[in-house]
Amino acid sequence: MLPDIFFHPLKPTQVLDTVYDQLGEPDEFGELTNESAARETVRQVLLDPRSQGDPGVFELAWELVDLYDDDELHDAVELLTEVLNAHPDQRFALGALRAAHRDAEGLVEMEALHRDMSFLLPERRDIRLYYLAPAFLAEQGQTDRGALLAREGAALARSLGLEEEAERIEERSPDPEHRQQSSARLGSAMEELLSAVRTAATPSGKRALGGERSSFRMAYLPAREYAKGLAEGLLDATFPLDHEDYRRELESSLHDSAELGRVSVVAIDLAEVDTFAKRTGRDPKRRSTRLAYLSTLPDKDAISWPPERNTPCWCTSQRKYKKCCGRPGFRDQPVPDRGRAILRVDGPQPLRVQVPSRIRLDRLHAVIDADAGAGGHYSFSVQDGEIDADQAPDATLSQLANEPGQSFGYHNGRDHRVTVEEIVPVDPADNQPRVI
Ligand SMILES: [Zn+2]
Repeated sequence: MLPDIFFHPLKPTQVLDTVYDQLGEPDEFGELTNESAARETVRQVLLDPRSQGDPGVFELAWELVDLYDDDELHDAVELLTEVLNAHPDQRFALGALRAAHRDAEGLVEMEALHRDMSFLLPERRDIRLYYLAPAFLAEQGQTDRGALLAREGAALARSLGLEEEAERIEERSPDPEHRQQSSARLGSAMEELLSAVRTAATPSGKRALGGERSSFRMAYLPAREYAKGLAEGLLDATFPLDHEDYRRELESSLHDSAELGRVSVVAIDLAEVDTFAKRTGRDPKRRSTRLAYLSTLPDKDAISWPPERNTPCWCTSQRKYKKCCGRPGFRDQPVPDRGRAILRVDGPQPLRVQVPSRIRLDRLHAVIDADAGAGGHYSFSVQDGEIDADQAPDATLSQLANEPGQSFGYHNGRDHRVTVEEIVPVDPADNQPRVI
């Protein structure tokens, strides 16, 4: 029985949120207890006649494969066959998806699909075949053939005016030149600005900004250490209560930071941080202390991010990355904000405000500036640069300052200095921004 929200109209891609809710929490063995229920929901949606013709069928089917373990791929392929029969209009995309999960056997199918498609007029060809075919061929040892196919697919997409699709093909291409091109595109001005703001908030980020696109690390507290840190008051209210939410946030910042250079995760032990803090005369409660401690650890302790999809997750859960912190949608779910930051705003009109510790900068602007509705121009500045809210819609306060004593600039025609006075824990439901 499909959940209620799927009655009229049925949008296959909207199913994903529900599916990941359905998956629930892993049990004591790290297995997702409701996996079969989630699979069943996806199966029903994919086979429901109302989803016929919707291009989201392919995306959903692609996600579905991730719900199967490697030793169950046979079942996944069988289901893909059913899906393929229910959606003959998506034969090339779904066929490529099925072929890509049949190891050496899939090579023949992939080549046959490619050949059949080449008989069609360019505008009738399904370029989604090229999302999977090049990487699959490379996996089977046919790297040159894969690279060739990716070039063909990207050229076809561009000739049809499908730039995003062309980029998606190139991102997955086994051709190193393609990869270079797609990472070069990421270096747009806005990306650089956003990155500057994101990284200016952490010493490791500042190191990364300082020079070459070198590697930098993030500290990670495994579940037991995290619980201890919360219990002993070593983690302030900007840290979520739920370890899963903490991993979600970390996965999300790892993802963002990977645009700047190589990223790795280092699991740290709070007893050792404490020893380090005593020896160097630092406060064991401060982020800066943990980061300083992190830089004393050898490279061999760092797990590089992202892990391969089928290797153990960086969070040491023993589960595969693709089923743990790397599963689709995981990092996109909102995390309750129980940290209330008290900010002092110095300038021509001094005031104090209380806001959630991860408030978006456009909302922070609205709290500080009573004329926000007038649409006047404003910006924020940190040590290493300026952030224009128009260009960084998702930037948050926590990226500018996340510890008492830190400050940043706010400019709305006049210049203000904003300092974090305090961060206190509150009920997330009662964490509304206001002037105090
Ligand atoms: Zn994980």
